[in-house]
Amino acid sequence: MNETSSPVIGVTCSIISIEDRPPRLGQSRSYLDALVRAGAAPVLIPNLTDQALLRTVYEQLDGLLLPGGDDVDPVRYGELRHEKCGTISTERDETELTLARWAVEEGKPLLGICRGIQVLNVALGGTLVQDIEAQVPDAERHNWKPGYPRDHLPHTVHVQPQTRLASLVGPGSLPVNSFHHQAIKEVAPGLVVTARAPDQIIEAVELDHPFALAVQWHPEELAGADARAQGLFDALALASRG
Ligand code: MN
Repeated sequence: MNETSSPVIGVTCSIISIEDRPPRLGQSRSYLDALVRAGAAPVLIPNLTDQALLRTVYEQLDGLLLPGGDDVDPVRYGELRHEKCGTISTERDETELTLARWAVEEGKPLLGICRGIQVLNVALGGTLVQDIEAQVPDAERHNWKPGYPRDHLPHTVHVQPQTRLASLVGPGSLPVNSFHHQAIKEVAPGLVVTARAPDQIIEAVELDHPFALAVQWHPEELAGADARAQGLFDALALASRG
C-alpha cells in the first residue's frame, strides 16, 4: 500500500442467530468504530474454511483484528470438553486459527481481543481454562454479563513494564472491563505474558513480531472515551501502515 492510503484491517465475524432468520455473520460495531477513529479501513472477514479463498482475502489485508466471541473448541488444544465450555463454531475456529498463524509467521500486524487472545494462544500451541469459575477456585469474578454496562471496570490488571503494552497504556495498574469465562492456561511458546489480574488470571500477551499483541478485556468498548484504550487500535493502524 502507498503511504497516504489507510491501512486495511480485517475483522473476523461472529455467527449471529436471529429467530426465524437464516444465520448471519457480523461483528460488534465498537471494533469497527475504534478502527475508523484510528484512521484504518476496516473490512469484515467471513468464516472461510476454504484455505485458498481465505488466503486471497488475507493477502488484501495490512493488519488483522481478532475480536471477542464464543469459545474455542477444546479439541483444538487437545482437551476434552468441560461441561461449562460454551458454544463453539468449527468454521470460525478454523478461519481464525489459520489467520492467526499466517499473521504470526509472516509478520502481519495483529491485535487480539477477548476470544482473540485465546485464539492466538491456541494457534501457537497453548491451552485454555475452559471455565474460570469451575476450574480456578480462587479467581475473582471475570464474567460481568449480563446486566453490567460494557464500560464497567470491575478489576485492574498489572501491566509489566518494558513491554509493548506498557509503552501504549503505561506500566502498573490499569482498570479494565471483563466479560470472559475462559482464559489462557498454558502459555504458548513464544508468547510473553504482559498483564495479569490480581488473581493471576492472564489478561495480556505479546510476541516478538512487528506488532502482535492481545488482551483479555474489551478496549473497543472504552476507546470512545479513553485514550489509552483507543491507543491499542491506533498502534495497530500505525503498524499496519508498514
Ligand atoms: Mn478479566
